[in-house]
Amino acid sequence: MTVGLFQPNGGWIEVIAGVMFSGKSEELIRRVRRSLIARKRVQVFKSHLDDRYLGVFTVGSHDGRTIEAVPVDSSEQITLRLDPLAQVIAIDEAQFLDQGVVELANDLAGRGRRVIIAGTDTDFRGEPFGAMPQLMCTAEVVDKLHAICVLCGAPATRNQRLIDGKPARYDSPIVMVGGADSYEARCRACHKIAPADESQGELL
Ligand code: ADP
Ligand code: ZN
Repeated sequence: MTVGLFQPNGGWIEVIAGVMFSGKSEELIRRVRRSLIARKRVQVFKSHLDDRYLGVFTVGSHDGRTIEAVPVDSSEQITLRLDPLAQVIAIDEAQFLDQGVVELANDLAGRGRRVIIAGTDTDFRGEPFGAMPQLMCTAEVVDKLHAICVLCGAPATRNQRLIDGKPARYDSPIVMVGGADSYEARCRACHKIAPADESQGELL
């Protein structure tokens, strides 16, 4: 990890980006654990919208390891619940948060904190997601992780969204809470989006 070579004098931001299943939560948990071993005071936040695993009070990885997290659905809630003594602040699923998270992360880094941010950097269309582009640009360290394409086994860089088993239309809403959609990790070549106009036919 490039973060291991980074020797800052003060605070900084590190972003763990990548598609779903690329190991962002695993990596965030690893970094948080190591900070705890180093006896740092650590606080973890997690966006509300994702409660796929063990509920909103934990950051869960697909291999079942968890740490406690404070559930939030806005950058303001992070500000309100911030432990002023925390030295390391980790935020998971940051793509769902508002743009205020960019100023917040930079403010914390400016005040000497280590800020670890994990998030899906592209939406189901393969386009930049939420504040992730700004976070990646202002971060000192960025790691972009890959999953494995479920169709061909190549490194996966896209979130394939399926609605009723078929590629989602371009104009379908980005977030369908409790919806009938599902996601697969796919490579660029295997990633499919149905056109906004249904008359243009279906994709597999
Ligand atoms: P993320 O936070 O990026 O969604 P997680 O850290 O929660 O990822 O999960 C990563 C784990 O998911 C991997 O270690 C692996 O065990 C599992 N996994 C399931 N499907 C895939 C896939 N298509 N490619 C890679 N890992 C996968
Ligand atoms: Zn593929």
